[in-house]
Amino acid sequence: MIIILKANTTDAQAKEVLHEIETAGLQPLHMPGVERTVLGALGDERILDALNLEKYPQVEKVKPVLSKYKLVSREIYPQDTVIQLGNTPVGSQQFALMGGPCAIESEEQLLETAQYVKSAGATVLRGGAFKPRTSPYSFQGLGVDGLKIMEQVGKETGLDTITELMDIKDLDDVANHISAIQIGARNMQNYSLLKAVGETQKPILLKRGLSATIEELLLAAEYIVATGNPNVMICERGIRTFETATRNTLDLNAVAYIKEKSHLPVIVDPSHGTGVRNLVSPMAKAGVACGADGLIIECHRRPVESVSDAAQALSPTDFSELLQQLKPFIEASGRTFKPLSAAV
Ligand code: PEP
Ligand code: MN
Repeated sequence: MIIILKANTTDAQAKEVLHEIETAGLQPLHMPGVERTVLGALGDERILDALNLEKYPQVEKVKPVLSKYKLVSREIYPQDTVIQLGNTPVGSQQFALMGGPCAIESEEQLLETAQYVKSAGATVLRGGAFKPRTSPYSFQGLGVDGLKIMEQVGKETGLDTITELMDIKDLDDVANHISAIQIGARNMQNYSLLKAVGETQKPILLKRGLSATIEELLLAAEYIVATGNPNVMICERGIRTFETATRNTLDLNAVAYIKEKSHLPVIVDPSHGTGVRNLVSPMAKAGVACGADGLIIECHRRPVESVSDAAQALSPTDFSELLQQLKPFIEASGRTFKPLSAAV
């Protein structure tokens, strides 16, 4: 629930209410504002119902949080959250661009692709070291060696880095070598993994599950935030529908909906969202137009050689053309685009 305190409430009076919330075994939230302080109480609904905080003279109003997800909801935090992914702010006026191969294949492949990604204007390098492949006979990723390559390439290019974590056992390695952690679609509801990354302060890109509803996605984000890590970005990457012409159906409703309901940044992945190279650019533009805070796009120095997701990989030329074409869309959505080369 949300507890709005009267104007002129002192710190000590706010603490008195927070103390009662904590004593009842609930999680207290303290949100001092310019005009007035707002408090929150989260936890067991039966305990919440029994609390009678209106009895305090400093309490103006007590309101229930209607959505099932609380901490990620704008009901509790109305302002947009800005997450610092290395040097890249995500969720700010500055539009965030992440690009790179589906998988890290070798140092040369990642470095060459990273240089293209950087010269096109992206500031975050993506690439998987642990790959969740549908077939056990497909390339599974370079593992920890891939993380080391990515760290090295990140240092050489100045790009921030993001990679997928599939298993809790690799959390320390990923956290030590890479700027941000991706939780892939197939793990969106792996609650132990969500809690494990919730115990870090790393930026987390939480991808929507293949058949997950928006509410399930936001509740998955809630797990991470409730465990203690507020640095969550939500990623719309397409869902399974009856449609088979494209790999997935990019649900742009979700982008507009989540931006309205949640303060967390939203990133669109038009690569997995379509699975079709020629559709990446139009859907990237559409994602920007409907309010995404950033894009994550797969590209490869030589797409035909890509060991995974070759059909959706952009070539370096496609990637840099796309970013040129995106500029008016980014501007129209009231944001700026600051390439890394311009930032340093
Ligand atoms: C990926 O980013 O390469 C990936 C496997 O994504 P998703 O989890 O969305 O399928
Ligand atoms: Mn991929």
